[in-house]
Amino acid sequence: MRENATGAPGLGWAVDHHVHSVHSWDGSDPVDAYCRRALELGLGGIVFTDHVELDPDGKGYRMYRYDAARAAVEAARQEYPGLHLGLGVEVTYLRSLEGEIREFLRGKEFDVVMGSLHQVGGVDCSDPRARAALEESGVDSRNLLDAYSDELRAAVESGLFDVLGHIDVFLRLGADMWRQMEAEVEGRMGEVLDLAVRAGVAIEVNTSGFRHGVGHPHPGVPTLTAYRHRGGSLVTLGSDAHRAAQLAWEFPAVAGMLRELGFGQVYFFRARRPAPLPLPGTGGGPGACPPP
Ligand SMILES: [Zn+2]
Ligand SMILES: [Zn+2]
Repeated sequence: MRENATGAPGLGWAVDHHVHSVHSWDGSDPVDAYCRRALELGLGGIVFTDHVELDPDGKGYRMYRYDAARAAVEAARQEYPGLHLGLGVEVTYLRSLEGEIREFLRGKEFDVVMGSLHQVGGVDCSDPRARAALEESGVDSRNLLDAYSDELRAAVESGLFDVLGHIDVFLRLGADMWRQMEAEVEGRMGEVLDLAVRAGVAIEVNTSGFRHGVGHPHPGVPTLTAYRHRGGSLVTLGSDAHRAAQLAWEFPAVAGMLRELGFGQVYFFRARRPAPLPLPGTGGGPGACPPP
């Protein structure tokens, strides 16, 4: 993974573990365009994680086509043997969808199944534009946080997922909305982290926070620090790119941040098992836990 087809320096250690191609309802570039961009960047690889939406009230309902997504990645593996190319999915989770999700996964082979919350109680927590509607409807932010974290804990306990995507994505709704609630946010995230560590479910470090006005990856430093203090080390790194130009977004900066937090490596999943990617400038081990 340190070498790649072009031999370009810099990102050969990294696999972008959260990428949406045209096989996502909201993706705009084909697999091939991402592979070409990866070669330009000298990136080690990509795991494609197209959206699977099984909520009839949500966007992109049942638009994912497994056979087409698999065929595109398999063709790209032939075309770009120097890249590691994985086939995964990002499944929108709600407790009410568990039956449909199990049914969807049956008989399909993925490198990784990532579970993410998007809509909770009719609010799209991943869309900063939902804020205006939220104010109009008078939804209480404490209630929204409670509902969100209940669903996230259920996602871990479902046993369906290898990785939890962008666990604090609700921060996209605006910093002011959560300003008086730092302790509650920390408490709720802590409960999720406890469960994830115990269950061996990975936490994603998602750099799209830098593109959505959050100013840090999802999750931010306090949650990542809390994860380390719980003995957590199983993190993946993804850009959540919806266009090839967003591939490996802010990876060098976030790798440095993870190093400072004591992470010696990130992971990517192959056949649903984690494999380590040592961060540059570290010995590759789990690293010392930073002081609280
Ligand atoms: Zn998502
Ligand atoms: Zn995504």
